[in-house]
Amino acid sequence: MQCESRLTLDASAAEYVVDVANVVREPGLGGDRPADLARLEGLLDALAAFTRDPTVQVYAITDRSLLADGRLTAGERERLDRWYRDGLLEVLPRADDRILELADALELRVVSADNFLDFHRAYPWIPGTRHRFLRPFLEPDGRIGVRPRIMPVPPEWQVSRKEEEGILLEAGVLRRWAPSAHRAVLSRDWRCPEADCPLFGAGERPGTALPRRHKDRVVCPTHGLQLTDTGPLPRRAQVKVVMDGTVRGRFMVTAGRPLAVGRAPADGGVALGAWVNSASVDSVSRTHVVLSYDGKGLTVVDERSANGTRIRHSRPTGEELLPLHHGTVWRLRTGDSVMLHDRLELLPSGRQFVFEEDTTDGTVGPQAGAVAAPTMLSVPLDIRPEDLPDGGRDEPGYEQA
Ligand SMILES: [Zn+2]
Repeated sequence: MQCESRLTLDASAAEYVVDVANVVREPGLGGDRPADLARLEGLLDALAAFTRDPTVQVYAITDRSLLADGRLTAGERERLDRWYRDGLLEVLPRADDRILELADALELRVVSADNFLDFHRAYPWIPGTRHRFLRPFLEPDGRIGVRPRIMPVPPEWQVSRKEEEGILLEAGVLRRWAPSAHRAVLSRDWRCPEADCPLFGAGERPGTALPRRHKDRVVCPTHGLQLTDTGPLPRRAQVKVVMDGTVRGRFMVTAGRPLAVGRAPADGGVALGAWVNSASVDSVSRTHVVLSYDGKGLTVVDERSANGTRIRHSRPTGEELLPLHHGTVWRLRTGDSVMLHDRLELLPSGRQFVFEEDTTDGTVGPQAGAVAAPTMLSVPLDIRPEDLPDGGRDEPGYEQA
């Protein structure tokens, strides 16, 4: 599969974030050249295999120097430049803090061998997490693989996280943002003063990238210029079509626009035959379910399907399958999926639930894949790692298999 189909700067669609320059310039990932774009292709293939999702969506960023790196071929540099102009690659002066800003705001998982020790104080969810980072490595057969990694917990961090947060907040190192801040930024249509800006310019844009925040301003990651708010943007949630455990396709549900899904729904609906073969949708009704999104969470209703719908409902104690009675509106929670039949399910992409209110205890619900409850913290963007106290050094290099 082509690299391009796996690259997106759409905040509603991306699931992983990758620093392209780090991968391309890592000799530990195979090949003889000091910089090689094939390493990125190998990494995307590895992510597709790891996630069982051939269409895995990756938010790729790079610092500007890669586009002029003379160790790449002219063809490779042209390709990177085309990705940048097509809005598939975010280019910015420096990428290392941006990768964590994206991970923090969009709940993206990070593919990196870096320990990010400089950033542990800014992002207290990093130390010890075992769900948010993947490490690329070289398989014995020369292919690239990825595996989950547990982030190190430096000894000085073996104190209560709450206590640390309190001290840092008091010292003004951290600025606490309301959980709704990211959602608010992503709900507006931003415009960059640079008319040909691939992210926020005047032309067609593939999706909604995440602006940067600099103090109270919203700025373009590429140009560093203040963005203008040109109006509201409808929120969208992503849903995956999963057949026998493998993702076959994905579609978006726009807030306020209910979407029919089935074998052959009326105009504007999602016809599942586009991704799975006809035998797999034989038992699916023309309009099997209708999905709706209210900007916070997805609901599903089965009005009149012939063979019924079930909800696979994840609970701390395990999974249960619940019939969805005709006309009942089910609010999908993290981990829930909609079973159209035994082998075919609709799986909401987890991230849009980050801000979903947990109705059981009135607090914000757990993040998909995160160990602890979310700590929505960020740093003012003018703070550089060297400004943070105790900047630990990252371990260089990649682990061999
Ligand atoms: Zn711009």
